Amino acid sequence: VGARYVAQVLKELPKMDVKALARKAVERTGLFKRRLIHVARKAGALERWANFSNVSMSKLVSMFEGTAIYEEALKDTFRKDLDVEGTLEVVEGIRSGDVEVVVLESGEEPSPIARVGIERMSMKMDIIPPERMKKLLLESTKARILGEFVHLLCVKCPKYLGIFRVKSLPEKPRCPSCGSHEVAPLKESEDIIASIVRKGGKGLSKSEERVWRKAKKYAKLVSKYGKTAVAVLAGKGVRYEDAEWVLESEDRITDRLFELIMEAERRALKRRFW
Ligand SMILES: [Zn+2]
Repeated sequence: VGARYVAQVLKELPKMDVKALARKAVERTGLFKRRLIHVARKAGALERWANFSNVSMSKLVSMFEGTAIYEEALKDTFRKDLDVEGTLEVVEGIRSGDVEVVVLESGEEPSPIARVGIERMSMKMDIIPPERMKKLLLESTKARILGEFVHLLCVKCPKYLGIFRVKSLPEKPRCPSCGSHEVAPLKESEDIIASIVRKGGKGLSKSEERVWRKAKKYAKLVSKYGKTAVAVLAGKGVRYEDAEWVLESEDRITDRLFELIMEAERRALKRRFW
């Protein structure tokens, strides 16, 4: 299924009865089957030792359909595994225009939000073994971070050094003009960086001042940790404090570093949405 098809379905959701839709969808899942067995056992309607791995879903469902046990299992699934209220809110947002549906072109790689979703769902649904999932996420994070482009700014000169791919940088990036290792990786626009350089870091506007202050802190990290600091700061939403925390636990470009970057990105996401 392509992203555009999903977007189309999302746009049509407000016209549908989401609750009924959710109920229908849930009734077909293994998740619901497990809840149903659990409730039935608790109610004494099924022997504890009974093995249901070979009972088909449709048979089990029809056995209990229309009973209080069935309704209870549905309620359980809704309460513990789904967020119908939250979904309704989003659907209402789509209807009113507060929530816009856009297709994000990210190539093969899931966005950080999608990643959180995939991680949680696959754990719940046992689609992908957790170990394999972990490895997949690690590999995709590694590829993304190393492939990321950053502007480099020498805060000593100050001088704009250009745009670089993280993986193409030397272990200890330095300014070719003054030889300083205090170079800051930035994701801001080239315009704002050029303006800071033109003014020599003085008499800056409020937003320029903010970037400049950040650049000086970032440059300290790069002078201490080199390319590893650039990689960490290339993480999505990763702040100075996060980067410092990551670099104190791992200062080389290793699998562990990318695991820590993923953790820092998760924290950043939480800050944004919760
Ligand atoms: Zn310089």
